[in-house]
Amino acid sequence: MNPIMSYHAHIYFRTPAERARAAWMRERIAERFLVQLGRWHEQRIGPHDVAMYQVAFDVPVFATFVPWLMLNRKGLSVLVHPNTLAPRADHLHNALWLGDVQKVHPEILSERIEAHQEDAIVPNTQPTLAPWS
Ligand code: ZN
Repeated sequence: MNPIMSYHAHIYFRTPAERARAAWMRERIAERFLVQLGRWHEQRIGPHDVAMYQVAFDVPVFATFVPWLMLNRKGLSVLVHPNTLAPRADHLHNALWLGDVQKVHPEILSERIEAHQEDAIVPNTQPTLAPWS
């Protein structure tokens, strides 16, 4: 069994200009990828020190979505982390960053969680375009 149940990408923004770029990305993500787009967080939330929105996606989506983020992040910082049963390690030790590394607050993250607490991904996009179109 794959210990990675799903992934998150957190798209960070600090300024109105960066928020506009994040919105540009969000539209294109929704058009291209079957993912669960989280709502906008305009302020620090949870372990995240910077305003952001979350994109949750299943393991098979990684192979196309993460390379797309590499080429389309418009200079924004993106945290990509796995979801296992160890949230602290997922965010702090086993994550990858695109762009500048942002602060993550470890005190918010528990060492381990129970399996049933990890919600399944429920995609809320209806992609109509191929990833690289
Ligand atoms: Zn996350």
